[in-house]
Amino acid sequence: MTELLPNYVAGRWQSGSGAGTPLFDPVLGTELVRVDATGLDLPAAFAFAREQGGNAMRALTYRQRAGLLGAIVKVLQANRDAYYEIATANSGTVKNDSAVDIDGAIFTLGQYAKWGDGLGDVRALRDGDAVKLGKEPVFQSQHLQLPTQGVALFINAFNFPSWGLWEKAAPALLSGVPVIVKPATATAWLTQRMVKDVVAAGVLPAGALSVVCGSSAGLMDALQPFDVVSFTGSAETAAVIRSHPAVAERSVRVNIEADSLNSALLMPGAAPGSDAFNLLVREVVREMTVKSGQKCTAIRRILVPAEVYDAAAEAIGAKLKGVTVGNPRNENVRMGSLVSRAQLDAVNDGLEALSAQTTVLYDGRSTPLIDADPAVAACIGPVLLGARDADAAERVHDVEVFGPVATLLPYRDLAHGIALAHRGQGSLVTSLYGSDDAALALAALALAPSHGRVHVVTPEVAQAHTGHGNVMPMSLHGGPGRAGGGAELGGLRALDFYHRRSAVQASPGVLAQLGL
Ligand code: NAP
Repeated sequence: MTELLPNYVAGRWQSGSGAGTPLFDPVLGTELVRVDATGLDLPAAFAFAREQGGNAMRALTYRQRAGLLGAIVKVLQANRDAYYEIATANSGTVKNDSAVDIDGAIFTLGQYAKWGDGLGDVRALRDGDAVKLGKEPVFQSQHLQLPTQGVALFINAFNFPSWGLWEKAAPALLSGVPVIVKPATATAWLTQRMVKDVVAAGVLPAGALSVVCGSSAGLMDALQPFDVVSFTGSAETAAVIRSHPAVAERSVRVNIEADSLNSALLMPGAAPGSDAFNLLVREVVREMTVKSGQKCTAIRRILVPAEVYDAAAEAIGAKLKGVTVGNPRNENVRMGSLVSRAQLDAVNDGLEALSAQTTVLYDGRSTPLIDADPAVAACIGPVLLGARDADAAERVHDVEVFGPVATLLPYRDLAHGIALAHRGQGSLVTSLYGSDDAALALAALALAPSHGRVHVVTPEVAQAHTGHGNVMPMSLHGGPGRAGGGAELGGLRALDFYHRRSAVQASPGVLAQLGL
């Protein structure tokens, strides 16, 4: 029997009373650990976090809480090697891909620690200036932002067990709001281990950080009106969360990051071999292969002028040919596995769903795996699809294949390309490749309303740009419509979700005493 990982709730480690759900090595097929949340007293766990954790966190100032984030960074840095081992074993990722998850988390925490320090030793934030309510300035209205007096429940996806926790926890903890994280079962080990290290280091007050591994049953039921829930995952589960009585009846604030048909667009006139063309090809290949394409921000649709469709297919295919796939422990492997056989099945189902409306332009599925048994490992080589009639290929704009798969689509003119990008019905990110600043700016403005982020790549930022799919804490993460309508990160604005806005109407004398 493998180890049953305990949950950390109500200030102590508690094991579930069930047999547990096994977590596997997706390359070797071996069982690693088990998780279980059966029998936990969730209402008591939430009450403990809300009262003990919340009171202790709100007693601190923003600067003091920024110090706690800094202390978490130190704990995570000290245990980094163990995290890489867990990521390789449980997520099947090569070192560079594990870094996106692990070092990306540490970077984000560090960034919020710096920003939080700048907020100073206050316990509430001024939201704009005081405005007079009558003719004379003797009675005024001052808006405030105050930490919500509840818990932040994070229900997370399997692809980022580390970053998915800390990119949400950084603004939550800085705001003074205790965190309860429920990682996706398939890759829960890394999240649980990080919480374990932070708890063992004693850097946070009791109740400030809890982890529940295994079934989600009962978590939403435990939410109270001042709590918030931040969900990352599929559109189907998002719909369940949105319609739960906690949200529909108790006004629990909800943030949803769901699936997204992100695009990359090569601007008109970019000839094969031009800088813009080459930058698009490089970025598409990177996005298709980093974490085996299991990134919510990955490029799924590649929009190019019709006249360069064949050249783009050839150039992307040629680069994909060099991508070695297999056991992430082998140094010759560039792309590891998907997180599970279930995900491999889902990717194959997605490819099947697209097959009637696309042709295969590059097929890495037949390339032999390195150091991995295809009958066991959840590995799949990259697949580039194409559809010459981008309008008719409806499914390409609707089916998200969460793996190393993207579809090349030709457009007639820029207006057509932009219309195709919009057919994602709201996406996390789109990227533009060109060299005409004015044309790029206009295209960015046209695409911004339906995208959380527009990433513009010109030759002058070839080395400096941070990557289409790389989520930086300085920029908004989230997208309208199909992408879930959520908003995470984007500097200190991310704190808004964990705060309540209130207006104090009083004399200047009273307002001066608010200590803002
Ligand atoms: P999922 O099935 O929706 O699971 C996501 C999380 O919800 C998991 O922790 C899951 O727990 C939990 N869950 C499942 N049913 C639930 C319920 N009825 N009530 C409450 N929680 C429930 O999604 P997935 O298939 O694992 O994740 C892949 C999807 O996530 C992709 O479509 C991808 O686009 C999306 N994603 C989006 C972003 C983003 O930032 N927008 C980031 C990453 C992934 P269990 O694991 O225990 O079932």
